[in-house]
Amino acid sequence: MTLTQQEMRELPLFRRLRHAVGKAVADFAMIREGDRIAVGVSGGKDSYTLLLLLEELRRRAPIDFQLVAVIIDSGYPGYRGDIVRDYVTSLGIPCHLETTTHYEIITEKRRPGSSYCSICARLKRGALYGLADSLGCNKLALGHHGDDFIETLLLNQFFVGSLKAMSANMLADNGRTTVIRPLVYASEEEIVDFMGQVGLPVVSCNCPVSDSTDLKRRRMKELLKELEQEIPHIRSSMLKALSNVHPRHLLDQQLQGL
Ligand code: SF4
Repeated sequence: MTLTQQEMRELPLFRRLRHAVGKAVADFAMIREGDRIAVGVSGGKDSYTLLLLLEELRRRAPIDFQLVAVIIDSGYPGYRGDIVRDYVTSLGIPCHLETTTHYEIITEKRRPGSSYCSICARLKRGALYGLADSLGCNKLALGHHGDDFIETLLLNQFFVGSLKAMSANMLADNGRTTVIRPLVYASEEEIVDFMGQVGLPVVSCNCPVSDSTDLKRRRMKELLKELEQEIPHIRSSMLKALSNVHPRHLLDQQLQGL
């Protein structure tokens, strides 16, 4: 059974997540008066949590800003964007569902052996930027949480040879849309627990690889779990490391002015 918004607000975990999002928004100056923010909502646990928390923040904030939920239907057979749209609309939040032919494009263009997710995510990101623009939104909020940040950090170090995670607040390459990630201080475990308590109509993207998740990312998740047995605070320490960078103690010659 889905909790009402009032019941949800009384959950201790909701309060804890609200605090985490409020702190992230303040620490990274993510939201300003007059912002119109497109919130990417897929119907998965992360994006629902993001939307509910931003709406709560909007309701309580001393400044005025607007939210518009944007749903991209990539065309995977069986995806129920209508369920997501109906739920979001029932919350009184403006919502736009965009139907695309991404699935067809991926089926035609993908080279054998290349990553399904990378082309799908690229197309989706492009569609989100386009929609944010056409809906008059200057910001795009995405549902990446703290574990996404540290898994991405490990993936880039282990497989790409680059010291890079994600930004919490960054102007996109199109020069118009600022991407914000207000769930940076929330963990995946908390989000899973929260979803279990609230009982939202979670829908699957229904893509051909949704059940198998990226193998490399899955390995990073396992690795973190293994290390956590020995170093219980590893996740918070890694996240803290991202905001405590000492460029002089790295080997990037550009950073050394060479
Ligand atoms: S898991 Fe599926 S929907 Fe998500 S990026 Fe990969 S292909 Fe796309």
